[in-house]
Amino acid sequence: MKEEKDKIIEDFREVLSLTKRYLKQEKERGVREIPRKQISDVRCQISEKSAKALERLRKEVGGCKKCPLWRERNNVVFGEGSPNAKLILVGEAPGRNEDLQGKPFVGTAGQLLTKILASIGLKREDVFIGNILKCRPPMNRNPKPEEIKACWGYLDRQLRIIKPRIILAMGTFAAQTLLKTDERISRLRGKFYPFAKGVKLLPTYHPAALLRNPGYKKSVWEDMKLLKKEYQKL
Ligand code: URA
Ligand code: SF4
Repeated sequence: MKEEKDKIIEDFREVLSLTKRYLKQEKERGVREIPRKQISDVRCQISEKSAKALERLRKEVGGCKKCPLWRERNNVVFGEGSPNAKLILVGEAPGRNEDLQGKPFVGTAGQLLTKILASIGLKREDVFIGNILKCRPPMNRNPKPEEIKACWGYLDRQLRIIKPRIILAMGTFAAQTLLKTDERISRLRGKFYPFAKGVKLLPTYHPAALLRNPGYKKSVWEDMKLLKKEYQKL
């Protein structure tokens, strides 16, 4: 871990010194301003890099047999959305429709999620949508601790590639896994928690829970207003 950190710091120093040298040369050439186009080119390169890393990871997970759920799956549900999303949504596990289509949140709960996102001005493509488990548990039963443990590394790597600033943890399993707690979702929701440096996590009810308990609507709406406020600051 320490070595990895040192390597990142070293890389960062190199980028800084190269940037300084480049700017000095440009200044000597009489350049007083860097065109915005060049800045956006750098942004493009960064986003291309995450897109490629994410596709490599998608291929790897596609053949995963790390827990017994691989036997009954039709498709791995890796997740979808922007490889550079500032906001990542994490659910529980694929359901029947998701397993059949290989895409996250495409069933009834997914349609509700799309509407919830729209209510705060976001489209599915603006964010990244994923799950704690990438394969469907039979009969949509709850994920088992050993399945969560086996699959965790993939979400961890997705987070490191996408580098979101906000994580919306939807439902008990996402919130408890990401926050490493046994606390009930009803007590966890409604506020931001520090997740990593520069990354905040907001727990809320799962859209499927919202369909079963319309009484949760008010809480989710409050959570979404909170989310919108933080998202707009980014
Ligand atoms: N519920 C989830 O938790 N994830 C999905 O992808 C679909 C339904
Ligand atoms: Fe692998 Fe995760 Fe699927 Fe289990 S649920 S087989 S760990 S991808």
